Amino acid sequence: MLTILRRIVLEFSQASELDQALLHLVSQVKEALDTQCCSVYLADHQKQHFLLMASNGLSQNAFGRTSVGFTEGLVGLVGQREEPINIANAQQHPDFIHAPEVEEENFKAFLGTPIIHQRKVLGVLTVQQEQARVFSENEEAFLVTLSAQLATALVSVEAQGMIEHSTQHTGKYYQGIGGAPGVAIGEMIVVHPKADLSTVAVNRVSDLEQQLTIFNDAVERTFIEFSQMSEKLKKIISDSSLDIFDVYKQLLDSDNFKTEVITKINQGWNAQSALKIIVDGYVVKFEALDDEYLRERAYDIKDLGNRLLNNIQNLVAYDQQLPEQFILVANDVSATMLAEYQHQGLLGIVSLTGSNNSHVAILAKALNIPAVMGVDYLAIRQLHQKKAVLDGYAYKLYVAPGNALINEYRHILAAENELQAQVKEVEHLPALTKDGHSMSLLVNAGLSAGFEYSQNVGADGIGLYRTEIPFMNRSCFPSESEQTTLYRKVLASFSGKPVTMRTLDVGGDKSLPYFPIIEANPFLGWRGIRITLDHPEIFLVQIRAMLRANHGLGNLAIMLPMISSITEVDEAMRLINQAYYELSSELSPNERDIFVKPKIGVMIEVPSVIFQLEDLADKVDFFSVGSNDLTQYLLAVDRNNSRVASLYDFYHPAVLRALHYIAQKSQQRGVPLSICGELANEPTGALLLMVMGYKNLSMSAHSIAKVKWVIRHVEYTKLKQILTKVLCLTNTASVHSYMHEQLMALGLGDFVHARLQ
Ligand code: PEP
Ligand code: MG
Repeated sequence: MLTILRRIVLEFSQASELDQALLHLVSQVKEALDTQCCSVYLADHQKQHFLLMASNGLSQNAFGRTSVGFTEGLVGLVGQREEPINIANAQQHPDFIHAPEVEEENFKAFLGTPIIHQRKVLGVLTVQQEQARVFSENEEAFLVTLSAQLATALVSVEAQGMIEHSTQHTGKYYQGIGGAPGVAIGEMIVVHPKADLSTVAVNRVSDLEQQLTIFNDAVERTFIEFSQMSEKLKKIISDSSLDIFDVYKQLLDSDNFKTEVITKINQGWNAQSALKIIVDGYVVKFEALDDEYLRERAYDIKDLGNRLLNNIQNLVAYDQQLPEQFILVANDVSATMLAEYQHQGLLGIVSLTGSNNSHVAILAKALNIPAVMGVDYLAIRQLHQKKAVLDGYAYKLYVAPGNALINEYRHILAAENELQAQVKEVEHLPALTKDGHSMSLLVNAGLSAGFEYSQNVGADGIGLYRTEIPFMNRSCFPSESEQTTLYRKVLASFSGKPVTMRTLDVGGDKSLPYFPIIEANPFLGWRGIRITLDHPEIFLVQIRAMLRANHGLGNLAIMLPMISSITEVDEAMRLINQAYYELSSELSPNERDIFVKPKIGVMIEVPSVIFQLEDLADKVDFFSVGSNDLTQYLLAVDRNNSRVASLYDFYHPAVLRALHYIAQKSQQRGVPLSICGELANEPTGALLLMVMGYKNLSMSAHSIAKVKWVIRHVEYTKLKQILTKVLCLTNTASVHSYMHEQLMALGLGDFVHARLQ
């Protein structure tokens, strides 16, 4: 059954025409379940009905014509209940509706399962039979499993289809699940797509000769590569593990494999589609085998397929001449990519992976580059050089939009600029509420390009300098003197103002090209202080560089990321002291007099330390809350995972109460407290934090004026009552709606909308 199921899903996702794919699907399901009718209905949410799209058993004349309201008939019932309905005699069911045009009079048994993607009912799959009987548990389980898998395939087939239709349907868009605010209008450039057959959208073409040449050349290149690889490795390895290259070469040479791909090309598929179809077919067959060894070979075939694909793609490589301005599209936009393209006309970013609080999204916000993240069903290769409108407020991507839509977005851009100009007027005024409560607004820095800009935005200092970014665009760790020069520049340009530098915080979704970390659960793994304590040589060099940079300036504070226990603080302190005394001993007595030891603080971002604030207060000089990670760890929601992005919310009552508790404890113990997560960028978040007792808010440079404007337009005492009420609310949605109401009442309507949050 598993093999049949996989084949059905595979063939469905490989189809280029939805109608044909659905027809093929219903025939396959009918055959697999040995029944007399299988039909598929797709939901039209605007019209609130299910449309019969294809059937093997019902009248063809009804396809595309017969619809059932969302609350009507058995199909409607399946959709409404969101569960399978399995009945022996459908016609006797009170919800049965007789629709003569479908010609189902003879069928009694009925089994229907909903097709659901991300909680949304996309359609209903049904099977029917003349004999009045309840379908077996196995049959029901098969249909449920198939529907669940079909949902994902359906979304991506629809997404591919949308590209061709998007010029007519300008209202259609791809929905991401996060991003960075702003609007970008321009040409899309797809970069460095990793050769991965699973992301290939199958396509037919007419230039078959060219496709055959591409495929044959790719086979030849891949063959040569394997020979070269095994030659090279033979010098190092002498065991049988190199036999795999011979297996690959044999497979490449085998008439079967090559001929099968060539046959597909001759049927009209382009080279990569033909390759995908054949490789996927092999993989399904191998994975279904009983023999474990042979089953494992499915992996080899996939690997071989991806290598071939890589060469096919290189042969049809895009002309990577960048236009003057462009929207960057990639499977997995990395921080390094952002850094690489930001000065080359980068207008916006589209990433299939990630979400609102991925580091790339945070960097994009800091650089003021609009982004849409987590559009995971996009067939990105088809987007290259197409025009798009990217809406980073609503996380939408419109492909090949019409002029009306472009004009609409030009207006949004203009309104946005106007509002920005308005808030900019307060940029250099103090962050003071109407009733005189004063706040300190600091910037989050560390981006090579954003840094110069940060100096003139009216900030009171740097609340978080992320040191990992300068470690990224390189081929090895920076030396002590390189780091000293860089840190000195930062400290000097904020001379007289506090600068909090965080020690290296890699791991999670930030990796260094020369220090790869491969883990199953990177956010729960080797990250932040855990790495640097395991590598004192890296930590000590960085601390020495910071201390040297601070010499004579004295505005440095050092902050430790990902602290989860007191032992880590003790160990880090020991190393910091060691670096300090080593450096002191290298100085002359006069110099030593002005060689100050900076304040040392910890980030509060792992829930365990919330319950050790008292203990920490005895050890460190300040706390800084990392609300991005604190939210992730409190709610057990991976901040980078698009599937659970809707669960990640700073306004979850548990997060707000934790933040409030931290503020109270710090106040009791007199420990200076700041916050440097993304929550402080949001007007709602900033106001709540202020009234909880946070005196120092650190945020992206672009948010300073906006947050200042909001602070200057409220009364602290009024907010106290709002906070009391918020802390009693029990779910996230009620916090949002209550805060929405309150901000409206405070006259901050412009900031309520997603556009300026
Ligand atoms: C945080 O976790 O809130 C934080 C500021 O650090 P980062 O986003 O770099 O993990
Ligand atoms: Mg963090």
